[in-house]
Amino acid sequence: MRIVIKIGTSTLAYSTGRMNLRRVEGLCRAMCDLKNAGNEIILISSGAIGMGVGKLGLKGRPSDMPTKQAAAAVGQCELMYTYDKLMGEYNHTVAQILLTADDIRDGRRCENFRNTLFRLLELGAVPVVNENDTVATDEIVIGDNDTLAAVVAADIDADLLVLLSDIDGLYTADPHKDKNAKLLSEVKELTEEILACGGGKGSELGTGGMRTKLHAAKIATEAGIDMIIANGADPDVLYNILDGKPFGTRFIGRRAGGGKGEER
Ligand code: GLU
Repeated sequence: MRIVIKIGTSTLAYSTGRMNLRRVEGLCRAMCDLKNAGNEIILISSGAIGMGVGKLGLKGRPSDMPTKQAAAAVGQCELMYTYDKLMGEYNHTVAQILLTADDIRDGRRCENFRNTLFRLLELGAVPVVNENDTVATDEIVIGDNDTLAAVVAADIDADLLVLLSDIDGLYTADPHKDKNAKLLSEVKELTEEILACGGGKGSELGTGGMRTKLHAAKIATEAGIDMIIANGADPDVLYNILDGKPFGTRFIGRRAGGGKGEER
């Protein structure tokens, strides 16, 4: 399977902006194992700004663009250094790909991106993709990595998209506020009712939230790709893919977009 895995800032960093090493180590190990089992792994990693905040000793997520971009430039190095080190321990090679919305919109640049990514997969590397935050401004920004992950998954004809976050999946209501909220294990159609479960708000250092995840689900499922939202707190969650066990909320891909999913 060609699996796109997105790790959110809330999963890989503490609220201090420093990396949650235990968790990231576990996830890297599981991704290497998935690769050893014959899967292709494409990692979409957030956390550049969050890591930069920690490394530069800033008080919190900056609100002005130049400081955000400076933090991203610092944090992106930290991210790649860590992935390289941890996956290198299991003999896997990582490759950095930074994209903006313009790169996706421009036919030729998108083609170059796809060619590079496919070649990296043939060479056995793990592409690690993030938005090119240092140049992405309002006009060319994708804005959040849930959307970026779905766009990439659709562009490269992935079989599965997994969004790892700090929540177990999609609930019928906000589980922090409503104790009767129920986790939905499968979503076959993105009805108005489902979209209304989205709510708002991402984490302190990250960008997303359930709304961007549902937007990603729309892009992925329309491209025929199943998408899973799961809690990245326990790296074993990725082993459930290997074991074929259900986890989180699975959004079922449709054939209408011309992807690989089946009409169900
Ligand atoms: N590109 C941003 C970063 O690496 C993350 C965007 C997001 O959290 O969705 O900090």
